[in-house]
Amino acid sequence: MVPRYDSESHLVIIGAGATCASFPKGDYRGRLIPAMNGFLEKTGISNNFPELTELVTKYPNLEDLYSELSQDSKYQGILKRLDLTIREYMASLHCGSQINLYDKLMLSLTNRDYIATFNWDPFLAQSYYYMSYITSDLPTILYLHGNVAIGYCENCHNIGYLWNKCQSCKEQFTPVPLLYPVKEKNYEQNPYIKNSWAALKELINNSSMITFWGYSAPKSDTAALSMMHEAFDNSASKNFKQFEIINIAEESLLEEAYKGFIYKLTHISYVKSFYQSEIAKNPRRSCDCLFENTMLCIPSSVVDENENRITIQEKDDLLALIKKMKQIEGEDVFRYCYNQNPIESKEALVNRFGRNLIGIME
Ligand SMILES: [Zn+2]
Repeated sequence: MVPRYDSESHLVIIGAGATCASFPKGDYRGRLIPAMNGFLEKTGISNNFPELTELVTKYPNLEDLYSELSQDSKYQGILKRLDLTIREYMASLHCGSQINLYDKLMLSLTNRDYIATFNWDPFLAQSYYYMSYITSDLPTILYLHGNVAIGYCENCHNIGYLWNKCQSCKEQFTPVPLLYPVKEKNYEQNPYIKNSWAALKELINNSSMITFWGYSAPKSDTAALSMMHEAFDNSASKNFKQFEIINIAEESLLEEAYKGFIYKLTHISYVKSFYQSEIAKNPRRSCDCLFENTMLCIPSSVVDENENRITIQEKDDLLALIKKMKQIEGEDVFRYCYNQNPIESKEALVNRFGRNLIGIME
């Protein structure tokens, strides 16, 4: 069994490609989650804005359209309505009963680890919600561009699900704004987003492994990229970090997009899918395995009682995943949350996965 080195942590940075890979056919009702290009057309939102027809044809990319509209004060009212409509659409998406890649990602990391997402969609927050009925040993999530499922308390600086009240002052959470991908992003305006970026810079500095999943590092993301490059540049351990890029794009394109992170000694690997990543190959122990392999020079992987390697597979359902997690962490970690509040846990899990799938918890 691979031990846990608590000083080692894994940062996973997520872009739109990760949601596309997790929900290739859309949400459970088949509602699509398109990339920025063609966003308004593919979601049908453009139908609600006949006054923008010409502009939407000229600027099919939401990023370009938003940049254009935000430069003219006469569009202020439309921009507000557009934001509300996009928010409504995104907030209505639901992951459905099938286990998805975000669920697998969530259970493959631990409370030492972090996920920072650029995405507005609610799927990662939904995964966290359901998986937290299985274990409390989950990663922390940062929503770098805001998120439709997340609210913020301006008095206490707490965050939570938008539909909840602040745990300290009991006031209803207010929505975190959605940041649009324009050239000049304002990361300072909202305190939650500002704090998330400060935390991200720390994490880029300190994490021993950094995975970018489905993030294309577009040139238009100048502000975000230069902040991340600077944090990486300042990191004393930059030559020892392990970088991993999960992306379906050509390797040569990725090398170009990620050149700001590549130094002479950077360890970087490119894989096409989550299942080929170190996260899936060494669930809950990605950094520990890296530490043992590189620092202690012992070959290391996570194995079961028969010395068979435990990896996350495409065919794994919730029961298979829980069984594997128990083999890695022991029974207690994975019964804890369920036992704390069995009625609520059971209700939430049955609601999503159905009665049969949660039988193993009892
Ligand atoms: Zn509060």
